[in-house]
Formats: sequence, structure tokens, C-alpha cells
Amino acid sequence: MKAVVKSRAEHGADFVTDLPEPEVGATDVLLEVAAASVCGTDRELYEWTPSAQAFNLRLPNVLGHEISGTVIEVGKDVTRFEVGDRLALESHVPCYRCYPCSVGDAHNCTNMLLLGMHIDGGFAERTAVPESVGVKLPDSVSLEVGSLMESAGVAWTAIARSGFAVNGANVLVSGCGPVGLVVIQLSILLGAASVVAIEPNPYRRRIAESLGATVLDPFSDDVVAHCRNLNPWRGGVDVAFEVSAAPSALPTLLESVRREGDVVTIGHPSSAVPIDIAAHINKKGITLRGVFGRRLWSTWEGLSQMLESGRLDLSWLITHRLELDKFEHAIELLTGDANKVVLFPNGVPARG
Ligand SMILES: [Zn+2]
Ligand SMILES: [Zn+2]
Repeated sequence: MKAVVKSRAEHGADFVTDLPEPEVGATDVLLEVAAASVCGTDRELYEWTPSAQAFNLRLPNVLGHEISGTVIEVGKDVTRFEVGDRLALESHVPCYRCYPCSVGDAHNCTNMLLLGMHIDGGFAERTAVPESVGVKLPDSVSLEVGSLMESAGVAWTAIARSGFAVNGANVLVSGCGPVGLVVIQLSILLGAASVVAIEPNPYRRRIAESLGATVLDPFSDDVVAHCRNLNPWRGGVDVAFEVSAAPSALPTLLESVRREGDVVTIGHPSSAVPIDIAAHINKKGITLRGVFGRRLWSTWEGLSQMLESGRLDLSWLITHRLELDKFEHAIELLTGDANKVVLFPNGVPARG
């Protein structure tokens, strides 16, 4: 079958047409992959950057971790799904045996395996995955939107991690890639009083503005002064989300939130970022939290409900739909004027 395989610990990945069919274990489901969205992490894996190398891949491995598809076969011990079910996949595969797993923190499993890095992923016509990572899509949610839920779930988790502090609040979002944009969208949907975004790229700035954010340029605007002047009585925004991964971003956010405000970090900076503990954490009383992936399974429950209700739409995120053999072009698009680039391993569906 067709697949994109990372075979060697070096730059690149190969589009192949002769990969053997996946083996379906007793507790696995076999999916015909409908859509596999391309993530910035896939570009890192392709380019083999230091942060990609830090994932300790099992090679060779089929790339792709933002996946939706239809069940075409179930292992003999599978209990939750049947042939024909439409699923989105959680990409983090917990062990359900370690300490965090045993106390309900499976999102932080000490033995976590990741689809597309340690288990064959979704840049393939078919993929076999443990049934434990399957999430049934509501009937009204399309398979292509299903492939966006993994990354949108990061945005949902970040807001949940703030204690849903966006409600009635002035919100600051640093970085307007797909996850940052969904943080903006969800903040407004969940009742933010205002959203300020920080983004230098003109294409992304326009999208953030169209969602309802006031957009500042980190290189030419005084972000801290703007946030303090929004409500001088409060002295800054109530909650801030760091999605850009730029090492210089966090200090600005810590200056821009009010006393006792919340900061949630999502982007992974490539180097350690110093924090002024005395000024920001102790005296200012900021609560700083981080996010990696989604909360299992409250994120999926919340996001599914919002999509099913029709109040949340994610389809606007998709700017490019490509065949699987255009994988390298998809990687190139990520650095240009694109939002979500989605691969369709069994062909791009006709759109009416
Ligand atoms: Zn990803
Ligand atoms: Zn575990």
C-alpha cells in the first residue's frame, strides 16, 4: 500500500507504494485512513531537527498523527468498535499501567507511545491502531474535520488547563498557527471579553483578525503597554497562552498578565527559557502551567460535544487538500501562507 515512511535518522522521508499491509492485533482496529492532517511536528520529523530527534522514534515508521478514518476490520478482542465506525484518533497511546495512568493522568503516561513516531501512523492507505485511541465521530462531523480534532484538542486542553479562565476575561494569545487560531476561536466562543493576539506573519494576522482578535506585531508593537492599557484597573490581561514556541515570547506574557493571572504554555521552545521567579511567580502570583497533547478523555468529550452542537466549526482551518504522494509539497506549504494542510491517502474526495 501507499505510505510515507521515515526510514532513517536523517533529513527526509520516503513515499512508497509497496508497504506491506498492517498487522491487526487482538485489540487493534484497522482503519481505512480518510484524512491525515499535516502538523508542524511532521515537518520537524522530515527535517530531522533536534526537537524531532528528542522524540526517540522507532524506525522505520509511517508518519502522520492527526488521523481520521473508517473501521474496516477489528481484532478478535475489540469491544468498543465495529466495521463501519467513523473514528478520529488520539495520537498519544498511554500504557494504563504506570502511576500517572493509574490515578487518572493518562495524558502524562510515563511510557507514552506516539502514533506516527513509535507506532505506524496515518500517512498510509490503512493503519492498525489500538482500539483505546479511537474516538467515534458524531454523525454530523465530517472525516476531514475529524482529522483536525487532535490539534484542536491541544487548544481545548490549554483553555481547560487555565480553568476555563477565558470566560469574561481579557485573553492574550502568542502565535497564530493552527493551534493558536483555535485558542482564539474557542476563547471567543467560550465568552472572552476580548482577545489580543501576537503574530508577525501578515497571512496569519488576517485570519486572527477575522476571528475577532486584535493583532499586535511582536517586533513593532508594545505588547505589554497595550495589555496594561486594556484595563488599567486590572493592570493586564487575565490569561495568556504561549503557542509560538519563540523563546522570547514567555517573558512578554508574564509582563502582560495582571497580578494573580494565568499563563499556559503550549509551544515547545527549542531552548530553555529563563523565568523571573521572584518578580512573576512569587510577587505577582502568576499561575504558570503547560500542556502537551490532550486530556484523556475530557478534551475529546468537550470538543466532540461542541462540534456536534454546531456551535464550533473547524472546517475553515483547512486551506489545502492533497493526495498522499504530494507529501513533500505539503511540508513546503506549512512554511508559507497555509493553515491546515490535509492529506487524503485514499484520494481527495470530490467537493460539492
Ligand atoms: Zn501534531
Ligand atoms: Zn502509563
